[in-house]
Amino acid sequence: MPEITKIKSIEKVTHDVLGITLDKPAGLSYIPGQAVDIALDKPGWNEKKNCFTFTSLPDEENIEFVIKTYPSHHGMTNELRSAKPGDEVLYYEPFGDIYFKGQGIFIAGGAGITPFIAIFKDLEKQGKISGNKLIFANKKKEDIILEDKFDALLGENFINILSDEQIEGYEHGYITADLIKKHSADDLKYYYLCGPDAMMNAVESQLESLGVEKEFVVREGF
Ligand SMILES: Cc1cc2nc3c(=O)[nH]c(=O)nc-3n(C[C@H](O)[C@H](O)[C@H](O)COP(=O)(O)OP(=O)(O)OC[C@H]3O[C@@H](n4cnc5c(N)ncnc54)[C@H](O)[C@@H]3O)c2cc1C
Repeated sequence: MPEITKIKSIEKVTHDVLGITLDKPAGLSYIPGQAVDIALDKPGWNEKKNCFTFTSLPDEENIEFVIKTYPSHHGMTNELRSAKPGDEVLYYEPFGDIYFKGQGIFIAGGAGITPFIAIFKDLEKQGKISGNKLIFANKKKEDIILEDKFDALLGENFINILSDEQIEGYEHGYITADLIKKHSADDLKYYYLCGPDAMMNAVESQLESLGVEKEFVVREGF
């Protein structure tokens, strides 16, 4: 059975991404990287569950999500564009297999960055961020979620790649085995992948071609 919580605030993170803060339900526990099914508690929507990843940490006062909206799908994320503080949300049990196993290269596509937001926040808190790298693939610069934050946190270990725009200082095109190889290092054992299936399948093949063993590939499909 779902439990109920309430939206506290909603803000724009990019032109099509929302940052949503909700009251943290008593007794809720999760680990950084995990997701949860939620539904909007209003007629016509309370049976339509979608999963989103916590971008807050478990010991924070609230729970937070970063959600990419798709107006053309006329689905839940479009509905969230008109949600307001005080609106009720149904939530289920947290789940998910992506969590920090050791230093590595994080490879995200679009909204696939969300588990890494929580994981990086947690690493920052523990003073363990140094050395980890993030390769973040988007169509355009305007699509990059929390660019300033990752810049400040990771510096030159934050690599952006844009498929639909050429900008100095940003890689252009799609992620390739060469790009991954360029940023690989012996002490970066793990490869964390999250994004659309097509991107993840392509990157997994590239990792295989680079001789990365499956046990060092940690993935979550969106
Ligand atoms: C473990 C996990 C964690 C996730 N965490 C996040 C997160 O933190 N943030 C985030 O933004 N996303 C996350 N996602 C993705 C998210 O769950 C949804 O896939 C996404 O929000 C779908 O939004 P929607 O508005 O299309 O919703 P829906 O209500 O699912 O879809 C509405 C309608 O759109 C249709 N539709 C689907 N695709 C298309 C298309 N390409 N063109 C036209 N219509 C289409 C569907 O058939 C459906 O009828 C996560 C996914 C997983 C599996």
